[in-house]
Amino acid sequence: MIIKKSAAEIEKMAAAGAILVETMDAIAASVRPGVSTGELDAIAERTIRARGATPTFKGYRGFPGSICASPNTMVVHGIPGPYRLKDGDEISIDVGVTLDGWVADAARTFAVGELEPRVRTLLEVTERSLHAGVEQCRAGNRMGDLSSAIQGVVESAGFSIVRSLVGHGVGRSMHEDPQVPNYGKPGKGTLLEEGMVLAVEPMTTAGRPGVRAGGDGWAIYSQDGSATAHFEFTIAITAQGPRVLTPWHLPPAARSSAAGADATATGERGPHGEAGEAGEGADGASAGEAREPAVEGVASAR
Ligand code: MG
Repeated sequence: MIIKKSAAEIEKMAAAGAILVETMDAIAASVRPGVSTGELDAIAERTIRARGATPTFKGYRGFPGSICASPNTMVVHGIPGPYRLKDGDEISIDVGVTLDGWVADAARTFAVGELEPRVRTLLEVTERSLHAGVEQCRAGNRMGDLSSAIQGVVESAGFSIVRSLVGHGVGRSMHEDPQVPNYGKPGKGTLLEEGMVLAVEPMTTAGRPGVRAGGDGWAIYSQDGSATAHFEFTIAITAQGPRVLTPWHLPPAARSSAAGADATATGERGPHGEAGEAGEGADGASAGEAREPAVEGVASAR
């Protein structure tokens, strides 16, 4: 069942998203050779709790961290701990923030020092694919429009989509319907409607698409040992278009315009933060329901 959100509910999710972005900023300021993923986790938890929110992941099905920290060949779900970043690493940091019962979920992959050129390109392409997905988060589109937009950017650059992990709806729960695959066919799948909020999260490898589970019950690695990348936004579908509720890509001055749906919808990183049409979002959208075919055999990523 897809649970649509009212404009007021989307504002609450945006408030959780704002704390998430502050948390991601604190992590970004701390990512450097020598720092451990456990230290990054502590920074995240402190930042989240200091703002009256809770780290969504902590305790979720027994997960011990406030973030997932997944370096290099690990795609997602890394437990933070003693691993110390080194020059040339790349690491996906996934953060969930719950505020007043509403969840925001986002991830980005950081470069630690200088990356190999192909790995650097993998990160750039994966982030670009996320923005291509954002552009499709419009009422009247189908899930396949979103999925195929992501897939097209990644595969045309010679990289692979991890197919066994997908994005998800998000709201009062971290994982809601619908599933949001990063591959698909235009015009197919669930109808996207005003009031839906999606965690869109392309997960990619520089090699083959297959993945394997690690030994701790959480970590997922590329099967062929190739580098991986992961970027994620929580995005609301509003009458004004896509609204990124976790705009970690925007400079702080531009984030205040996040109340305008279009202001956060574009894919460019940089100081282009003029407020768009100030929009109130999906006013009047009430909880609705719809069934859509489940995708078998896939797991939601964080
Ligand atoms: Mg997620």
